[in-house]
Amino acid sequence: MRKPPDAADITADDAEIAAALASATVGALLPAVAQLTGDLSVLRPDLQPDPDNIMDPQAGLSAAQVAEARQLALDTLIAHREAGNPAAPPPDEQALRTIMAFVVGERNVDEYFGLLVEELAPGGADLRAPEWTLDEVAPDRSMRVAVIGAGMSGLLVAHRLRQAGVEAVVLEKNPDVGGTWFDNTYPGCRVDVPNHLYSYSFDPALWPQHYSSQEVLREYFSDFADRNELRDVIRFDHEVTAMRWDEESALWHLDVRATDGTTDTVNANAVVSAVGQLNRPRMPDIAGMDAFAGPAFHSARWDHDVDLSGKRVAVVGTGASAMQFIPEIAPEVAHLDVYQRTPAWLVPSPDYHDVVTDDQRWLFEHLPTYAQWFRLWLFWRTHEGLLVAAEADPDWTGGPEAVSQLNAMVHMVLSEYLKAQFDGHDDLLAKVMPHYPPISKRVVRDNGIWARTLTRDNVELVTDGIARITEAGVVTADGVEHPADVIIWGTGFTASEFLMPMAVSGVGGADLHATWDGDARAYLGLTIPGFPNLFLMYGPNTNIVINGSIIFFSECETTYIVESMRMLASSGNAAMEVRPEVHQAFARRIDDANATMAWGVASVNTWYKNAKGRVTQNWPFSLLEYWRATRTPEPSDYDLR
Ligand code: NAP
Repeated sequence: MRKPPDAADITADDAEIAAALASATVGALLPAVAQLTGDLSVLRPDLQPDPDNIMDPQAGLSAAQVAEARQLALDTLIAHREAGNPAAPPPDEQALRTIMAFVVGERNVDEYFGLLVEELAPGGADLRAPEWTLDEVAPDRSMRVAVIGAGMSGLLVAHRLRQAGVEAVVLEKNPDVGGTWFDNTYPGCRVDVPNHLYSYSFDPALWPQHYSSQEVLREYFSDFADRNELRDVIRFDHEVTAMRWDEESALWHLDVRATDGTTDTVNANAVVSAVGQLNRPRMPDIAGMDAFAGPAFHSARWDHDVDLSGKRVAVVGTGASAMQFIPEIAPEVAHLDVYQRTPAWLVPSPDYHDVVTDDQRWLFEHLPTYAQWFRLWLFWRTHEGLLVAAEADPDWTGGPEAVSQLNAMVHMVLSEYLKAQFDGHDDLLAKVMPHYPPISKRVVRDNGIWARTLTRDNVELVTDGIARITEAGVVTADGVEHPADVIIWGTGFTASEFLMPMAVSGVGGADLHATWDGDARAYLGLTIPGFPNLFLMYGPNTNIVINGSIIFFSECETTYIVESMRMLASSGNAAMEVRPEVHQAFARRIDDANATMAWGVASVNTWYKNAKGRVTQNWPFSLLEYWRATRTPEPSDYDLR
């Protein structure tokens, strides 16, 4: 995976710079120029993007303003080059705040400064690295943490623990790193959060696409593991089947089974579960599924040995996964039946499949700090600002397809997009138009490919429910049998069955799954009463629906876990167990808040709710709130012993 080069002098000629600037984002360009030259006067108020205007790609700037900003940047960069590239001193805090205000607006700088400076990582600084080592805090103490999973979260926490001098042993059921980016190899699999944001804050890369493919993401995490020598501490092909807390020794004992059938026990002072939420395929319960004569597989277990060309294929499901692979396989197959139960709202994203052009790449490679400011720009525009559109207005009387005036506006914009996409295809439009509030269910990114796919002659969108599967195909509720050679289940994951199928026993032998009783909860998504020194990453209620990248949450959780190790080490305690009343108060707050969000109010099917109807997945508050809550554990929240 290519890394951005270190800042270098600008040597390109005027035409090359001008060509690159023609693709620059003003909200990142002028901050980068200001930092490079130390001339903050380029941050002209009349050229400032509107930080609240997140719908418009230019954030409210007119074409003339964009052109003027680029010309100003060009003139300034040429003058800088002609002057011999004089190095401006790194901005002090006041200068940083001034530049940041250009991106996020002055009123947000005070509130968000600490968070934003970490996300910005000025000068490539790794501001989330632990500021302590075990040697310094407790020189006579050893600490070993077992991390379950070597995906995005597990690699991160293992890296941070090792930076703090805490031993990490990572147990990974797969033969390689990557987690979801290892498991999902279906055609068209790609990240749907902008890649310059979907990356560790401290580890930028030169992304080939704005939303790169699964292979690229897998390579990024693989490369991260290599550079940080994490493979040395990962036991691949080892699955944790059970774990037990031993109160007397204050140790977790983990039963591990290798793919060759051998078993082992690993002891650790603490355990981090980094197994993800979306990794165990959910197979539907449809009569006759076993009778089907042809190949059938789930999207996350794609069978690449099955040649789809010239076949009649049935795809069940139209979630984020299916909507990525259906357009890829449609041109290849003879006929495709797409079984849709609930249509998704599509969010227009024209650059979804675009490569990063050479001119854009020039900016990332040659304009120092452009990549950092671009990340901050994306962070601001795709994070907090969107959450408000999901908030339900208790006095809303505008009908069940929206939850507030703002949500209704989003409904209107997205409806218009669908109408334009399916213009001239009224039958299809009626089928793909959702009738539930936007953001109550996962919205799916689209660059026009969904309509192009569904309007193909060899594709049929079937919206009659599935009655049963036969040897030869799918029978719908109207009694029609649709012949199929292959069935692909795009039916999602058992997201609310956290930590399954591991058997987890805590204090007094209490069984975690019995304790949860199908309704998983954890304080801050991280810790559970009765299960000391056990930390969950991407645990209950830490999924974000609309505002941001899950990597942000993993970085916050990692900070909390690493600081928990410091709290144990520095206090001389062996165990920390969250107090039940703290956990309960948090659970009440979460439930109350989720009940005021689109996904809590709407009755549409989603994986955000568990079988009991509670929203087990989502974080209803701001990212700032999670960041603040996870800076460090509050000792009074825990029974330390
Ligand atoms: P999903 O969103 O849960 O979608 C499952 C689909 O299968 C839905 O359309 C569902 O219909 C349908 N379905 C389930 N059981 C069915 C049945 N018995 N009969 C008919 N249809 C049935 O799963 P997913 O698409 O794998 O996505 C899960 C999550 O993974 C996403 O929301 C996203 O967070 C993540 N993801 C991310 C990316 C990315 O970043 N690029 C890509 C893929 C997935 P209903 O809607 O009616 O339940």
